[in-house]
Amino acid sequence: MYIAIGLYCLALICQVFASLISLSLFRYSATIYRWGWLFLATGLSLMIGRRIDPIFHIFESGRFDLLDAVLSLPISGFLLLGVLGLRKILIKVDTNQLALEAFAQFDPLTNSLSRTEILYRVSEEIDRSRRNKQSFALLEIDIDHFKNVNDQFGHHVGDEVLLSLVRHSKEAIRSVDAIGRIGGEEFLILLPETEAMGATQIAERLCKHIASAVNDASAPTPVKITISVGIAIFNPNENPRVERGILLNELVNQADLAMYQAKNEGRNRVVFWTSPTTTLLKGA
Ligand code: GH3
Ligand code: MG
Ligand code: MG
Repeated sequence: MYIAIGLYCLALICQVFASLISLSLFRYSATIYRWGWLFLATGLSLMIGRRIDPIFHIFESGRFDLLDAVLSLPISGFLLLGVLGLRKILIKVDTNQLALEAFAQFDPLTNSLSRTEILYRVSEEIDRSRRNKQSFALLEIDIDHFKNVNDQFGHHVGDEVLLSLVRHSKEAIRSVDAIGRIGGEEFLILLPETEAMGATQIAERLCKHIASAVNDASAPTPVKITISVGIAIFNPNENPRVERGILLNELVNQADLAMYQAKNEGRNRVVFWTSPTTTLLKGA
């Protein structure tokens, strides 16, 4: 009799733990898995009654079914192990999901935002700017004569300089601004709620900061770089009916044209995009 009670008690403990784990997974898992966990937790909780009932029955009548008592422990034990296994899988899936999201969001070399992410943020900013009726600025930066850095010090030093550039750029911009790598040594910087004057000040500060910064690279001599910066401003009052994808392309194109003008004018400088002049210079 005591063996039967002991077996039922152990089965009861397994059952309670299995139910509690299912319930906790119901609370914390993503919506798509939730119903599954809720049904499992409900089923397992109801089965707790199937473990308590025979214990009461033994105390009342002194009678018990030995086979049922023996089977109750592995049934509840395996259920607990199954729930623990599912929990482990879920944690792994969540971790992989986070890693994938980070991979899509960030550029692995420089730790700045990825091309997809920065372009997504700019397009979101177009919507926000249209709602708030506040302009924002987009900077495109390109390292001057970067090929020389690679040729002189090697590609690995070039990579370190890119990482260093992002770190120094973050020092010169505000915490609300975002920097993302769109190509080899080309970056976009999004400056929300920024007018032309503010954007020019930030860009010039950035240009000076990069030119004076010492890059932490494993080169025998300090590696100094300069950047050329193109600025484009998004005006929410212009083109109210044009789709945001088209506006995004146009804005990036304007920043690109201005950046090329900065190259043509001698590099290590900031150029503000203005319609006809910049287009002409690009064509020249
Ligand atoms: P410019 O002043 O006209 O920009 O001259 P540049 O030499 O910088 O020319 P460009 O902008 O075309 O630079 C492209 C070079 O950038 C080619 C390549 O050597 C280097 N580069 C591109 N991506 C990477 C990268 O991921 N790592 C390293 N180390 N170098 C890269
Ligand atoms: Mg370059
Ligand atoms: Mg380039």
